[in-house]
Amino acid sequence: MGTSDNEGRRTTSYPLLKGQKALVTGANSGIGRATAIGLGRVGADVVVNYVAGREAAEEVVREIEGFGVRAYAHEADVSQEDQVTGMISRMVDEFGTIDVLVANAGLQRDAAATEMTLAQWQKVLDVNLTGQFLCAREAAKEFMRRGVVPEVSCAAGKIICMSSVHQIIPWAGHVNYAASKGGVLMMMQTLAQELAPHRIRVNAVAPGAIRTPINRSAWESAEAEADLLRLIPYNRVGDPEDIATAVAALASDLFDYVVGATLYVDGGMTLFPGFETGG
Ligand code: NAD
Repeated sequence: MGTSDNEGRRTTSYPLLKGQKALVTGANSGIGRATAIGLGRVGADVVVNYVAGREAAEEVVREIEGFGVRAYAHEADVSQEDQVTGMISRMVDEFGTIDVLVANAGLQRDAAATEMTLAQWQKVLDVNLTGQFLCAREAAKEFMRRGVVPEVSCAAGKIICMSSVHQIIPWAGHVNYAASKGGVLMMMQTLAQELAPHRIRVNAVAPGAIRTPINRSAWESAEAEADLLRLIPYNRVGDPEDIATAVAALASDLFDYVVGATLYVDGGMTLFPGFETGG
């Protein structure tokens, strides 16, 4: 349990996910990295998936182990069915089961629609949408096999899809990415509807602009950042930790009655700030 100072403020982290086994895909960079570390901080054992960059994944593992929980790195391409089934079955062998899946891995291959190659379209759909589906399908099978273990969690399992504000905001120059995230919204809601009777909670986190390598050009220079801030009423670019804390909360039993929801973590980007003074 957490401890408090004299005024009752929490001074150590409450182990929200104590004893739970979590898999975070794309966990050696950006949001996935912060989320894997964040879940370890609140007591989960964590599998750190990566597709390239073993050293960075091992660093995340060491950081998580510093919280006194278990972790290991697993190389797998989430768009490849055999690699996803292999990743989940190794997790069941090593950790006994899976309680939380964070389907985070994603990428962009930007181009004007008329210039976009089929390969660019397909790659983004394969990783961002098919990859999430494969991971969710395999995790759900294990959740259903095991069922609820009340000492661990009220739910048989939790799936958190990493979506984006672009699941509802169209994005010129990124039609593959916006289509993939729009697909994530409907996949998430449909899985939530289908799996809820099995006590499996499926939800999404939809980040706005978060400072990570995926969007470096949008915040790297002062001019780019100023431009970006015009879209964010809260007037700051998000940090990966803003997403990590939202994921930990959503995965925990504090959110047990939240099913099929998208938690926008975007500093108000989806409030359509262009209408602040007009309309
Ligand atoms: P990032 O580039 O830092 O991280 C993406 C991770 O996914 C990397 O570790 C990458 O190696 C991994 N990955 C890519 N293809 C993979 C594959 N085939 N198999 C396994 N892993 C793979 O970017 P990020 O910003 O941390 O993005 C994480 C997620 O957050 C993505 O789904 C992205 O769409 C979403 N997102 C990010 C932002 C943002 O502003 N940064 C906003 C909205 C949504």
